[in-house]
Order: sequence, then C-alpha cells, then structure tokens
Amino acid sequence: MWHDGGYSGMRLHRRQPSAGLHGQAVLQRAIRLCLLILSGFSLLSGPVQAENGGSPQDVTIGVLAYQGELAAALDWAPLTRFLNERVPGYRFNLEHFDADSLRAAIREQRVDLVVTNPGYYVAMENEFGLSRIATLDSPQALSPDKGTGSALIVRSDRADLETLADLRGKRLAAMAPDAFGGYLLVVREMLAQGIDAESHFKEIHFLGVPMMRIVAAVQRGEADAGVVRSCFIEQAAARGVLRLEDFRVLGDRRSVDTTAAAFPCGLSTPLYPDWPIAVTRGIGHSLSKQVAQALLSMPADTGMAWTVPADYQTVHELYRELRTGPYAHLRDVTLAGLLRRFWPALLVLALVLTAWGVHTVRVEHLVQRRTAELRASLRARDEAEARVRSHQEQMEHLSRLSILGELSGSLAHEINQPLTTIGNYARSLLRRHADGRLTDAAVVEACGEIGSEAERAGGIMRRIRDFARKRTAVREPADMPALADSTRKLIEGMLLHAPLIVCENELPPGCEVLADGPQIQQVLLNLVKNAIDAGRGLPPERQAVTIRLETADKRLLVHVIDQGCGLTAEQQSRLFEPFFTTKPDGLGLGLPICKTIVEAHGGRLWAESNIPSGMRFSFSLPCHAASN
Ligand code: ADP
Repeated sequence: MWHDGGYSGMRLHRRQPSAGLHGQAVLQRAIRLCLLILSGFSLLSGPVQAENGGSPQDVTIGVLAYQGELAAALDWAPLTRFLNERVPGYRFNLEHFDADSLRAAIREQRVDLVVTNPGYYVAMENEFGLSRIATLDSPQALSPDKGTGSALIVRSDRADLETLADLRGKRLAAMAPDAFGGYLLVVREMLAQGIDAESHFKEIHFLGVPMMRIVAAVQRGEADAGVVRSCFIEQAAARGVLRLEDFRVLGDRRSVDTTAAAFPCGLSTPLYPDWPIAVTRGIGHSLSKQVAQALLSMPADTGMAWTVPADYQTVHELYRELRTGPYAHLRDVTLAGLLRRFWPALLVLALVLTAWGVHTVRVEHLVQRRTAELRASLRARDEAEARVRSHQEQMEHLSRLSILGELSGSLAHEINQPLTTIGNYARSLLRRHADGRLTDAAVVEACGEIGSEAERAGGIMRRIRDFARKRTAVREPADMPALADSTRKLIEGMLLHAPLIVCENELPPGCEVLADGPQIQQVLLNLVKNAIDAGRGLPPERQAVTIRLETADKRLLVHVIDQGCGLTAEQQSRLFEPFFTTKPDGLGLGLPICKTIVEAHGGRLWAESNIPSGMRFSFSLPCHAASN
C-alpha cells in the first residue's frame, strides 16, 4: 500500500474555513458535490468543441485519491476542465484510485495519464515505465524540486520535547508505514541524525487518512508527536480547523538550512519535489506533447499551476536509503531476506552442494577402497613376481648345473691331464735326484711346467665355480667379445674332443650392453653346447661352431652357427616349448630358459636354418652406446 502523506496545499487552500471538524466535513462534501457537477459539466462541454474535427477520443486520467472520491473530484476538476478546453479531439475523464487499484489500472492499461505523489510515481516509473511530463507548481513551493516536506508536530505545551532525541520512548502518530510525507520523510531525517525510528519510539500509531486524525491524536494527548505533511497545520489553521499556537514543529529546518529558510511553513525534513503528472507507455507522443504544452500554459487563476518535470532523484535516494518502495529488495540482504527472495535458487544450490558433498564422500570412499585393493594386488603381484624370480633363478641355476653335468663326463679327463703332467714332472725330479742327475735347469723346467699345469687346472675349476655359483641377476656393462671367448675356453676346457669354436667379432667400437654377464654366458654356453651336440658324429668340418657378434638397428646381435643335423620346420616351431627335446638324456629346458633370460634383458631369441646345413641361433640385446 502506498499512501499520500503530503498532497499539495492547492487542494487545501481552496477549502472553506469552518468552526469544527464535523461541520467542515459536511460543508466540504456539499462543495465537492457542486464541483463534481461542475466537473461533469466541463467533461460534457469539452468534447463538443473537439467534435468539430470528428468523434473525440477518450483519455483517462488516473488520480491517487486518498481523501476520497469527492475530494479528488473537487481537487482535480480544474485539470480535466482545462485539458478538455485546450486539447481538441480528446475527451479527458478523471478516475480515482487507491494505491493498489491505480497500480492495477496502469498494468492493465486502463489509464493514459497518472497524477500521483512523488513516492508512488517513482515506484510506478520503475515498474511500468511511467514518464512524467510536468510537476505541480504549488504556491508555497520554493521551486518544483522543493515543494513538499514533513512536519513533526507536538503540542506547544510540551516543554519537555525540543529535539528528535527527546522523543525516545514516546508515542508517535503517523499516516501509514509507507506514507511518503506522512511518515517516510521523517524516518529518513531521523536516520540522518543517527536515530532508528522503529526502535526510537515506544509506539507508532498509523492512523490512515484523513491527516487531520494525526493532528487530533496529538491534540488529545493520545500521541506525543505526529507526522504531517508540511503546511498542513498552517492551512488547517487558515481554515480555522485548528489553532496554530497549540502546536510546535520539532527541529524546524528553516533555522538551520538556508535553502529552506524561505519556506512559508514549519518543516522538520528537507524539501522534496511536488506531485508529477505522468504518461503511461501506451499514450502517443503527439498527445503527450499537447497535454504537456497545455499544462505548462495553465493560468494561475484556474487554481492549479504546472511546470516542467522536476528531478525526482531525491525521492529515489530516500527509498534507496530506507530500503523500501522500489528498493525494498535491498532490505532483504539479511539472511532471512535472502532466503525469502532466493529460496528456489538457494534450494537448488543446497541440493547441488549436498549432491556434490555426497558424491565427494562417495568418490573418496571408492578411491580409498580402490587404493587399498590396488595396494593389496600390488603386494600380491610383487610377492608373485618375487616367487617367479626366485623360481627362475633356481631354474637357471639348475640349468647351469645341468650343462655342467653334461660336460662333466670329460671334465675329469681335462683336470686329469694337468694333474698327470704335474705328477710326471714330480716323479721325474725325484728320480733325477735319486740318480744324482738333478740339475738346476731340470728343476727350473719341471717347476715351470708344474706351475703352468696347475694354473690350467685352477682356471678350469674357477670358471666352473663361477658358472655354477648361485647368484642374483645384475645389470652392468658387459664385454661381449670377452664373454664369448670365455665361453669358448670353458667348453674347450671341459670337453675332451671339443670341436673348433670360432669367435668372429664384428662389433663396431663403443658398442656396449647392460647385462648380467654370467646369465648371457649361460645362454651362449647352452647354444654352443646344442650346436656341438648337433654336429656330433658328423665329419670334423661340419662340427665347427661359429660365435658371431655384430650390430643391427641399435641392437647387438649374437649368432651361434653350426652345420650340424639341423631341425625340421615342425621341430623349429616347438623349439622354445619347455621339455621339447630330441636327445635321449635331454631335459628340454635349456632354450626356454635362454629365451626368458634374453627377454628379461629387453632382447629376443630366435632360430633359423643355416644355409647350406645346420642351424643359426641368434639373440639380440639393446645397445646403450651403439655406433652401427
Ligand atoms: P636339451 O638340450 O636338453 O634337449 P634344449 O632346450 O637346449 O634342451 O634343446 C631342445 C632341443 O632343441 C634339443 O633337444 C634339440 O633337438 C634342439 N636343438 C637345439 N639346438 C639345436 C641345434 N643347434 N641344432 C639342432 N637341434 C637343436
């Protein structure tokens, strides 16, 4: 609800003085009735002139009428009469509304022009795009921008009430919580002085219209102070309705504010613009212009004057400061207000946040569970890998022992040879000593031979021991030509009739692999032993075995080539299957283990037929510094 607490003095100064409130009311009603009839007459007479140019078009002026229909008809009759005279082709009709019904009429486009108080205008301007075309030019106004204010009246015998601060805990009478001149102007002024009106007073009585109720409440002592629009009591006194000396205006600004000094009435607040007349969106530009021109030319003797539209910024500021009217939403910046305004969005936000929270907790739970599972499976995998590694190492060890076992038949002979030689030299020395033929030269020669034979036997034993030792794999720079040569020597040292083993080193300088030397030697030994086995029983030239080292595609290649019995395609396809063997005493594990070792080094082991005969077993190892 919007209330006018400060409509212009124009309306009041036309009312006739009367001895008492009741008598005056009766008289006013009679006057209003007469004016209504006059107004009706003017409505009828206007269009007659206009009809010369065709049938007149109806224009409805909506007026905010808080003092009742008759009062409004009385107040605004000059306006419709004048417009009907001055604007041809139109018939101006006056309609009276309270705040809510005027708002509805504007929304439904039932009115074309609107006359209302500054506060209501500002709200409708904001909501419906009303556009002011003129502002009332009241006789008491200092200017159209300074036409109306409020007076905070007390009884003049209340010596205890001098300032606004003195009203603490007192009773206030006002028109309505949203009345412009009848409440809000005083609230803002109190706020400017650091006083919160709502908590300052013990009680606030909102008495509604007419405003005289407020004056009466103060006079009877039912309220300690009352808010009325400026000039209200002066005009009432002029009509004889009250005695001006019975009242006092608190905090009269005219003594402190030079811009208000000339205002003819007591004033507790700054001055604000007077009532505007505004056009609604539907009205055409031409009619707006004609109405504006007519209003600006309205002569003073009509009892009403209009001027160019005032600046209503101060009204905006008031509402913004008090967070009411069109700025009521600013008041809602409290938690409760925000909840009231934005509850759908906040509800959605709360739901989203809740869903997000639940999702996060769930994801966190799943991540933890999955992490635990992964850790468990990693642990299990590590344990399984460790077990596999251990088995593999055992297999490799067994394989090495197996190779040694196969070669050990001739090992005794190999060791025996140097031992026999050593024994022979020792016995020869003893014999010569017994015969007295022991010379220094013979001793030196015998001891030299004994030493070298012992070294030979020791070398064989050392290589076997190194090869057979149980150990953990390592990765270190491996000297492949040396490994190939050592393999050759190991075999030659262990086999009684070892065939010719040729080492061909075609490696470019700087080629290096990271490998476990003994493991690679195990592979070589296995391949060379198989190659020797394949040539067993064949002519000597087909028993020779070649170990060739070369590089290709940044890989070091080791080929073990023989010209032995070879293998059929079917046998070749099964070569790396565990337990595949063609030998009566074979295990069929050598090649699978070799393959595992080579692949663990990042390499590959394969076999192919050699041309014209025999097989070629090859394996590759990645080079770390190849220059192929
Ligand atoms: P084993 O030597 O105990 O049989 P291997 O896995 O070392 O086990 O060899 C499997 C089989 O592959 C041998 O039995 C043999 O038939 C065949 N083989 C391996 N190397 C050669 C080769 N160079 N020439 C012909 N056959 C070979």
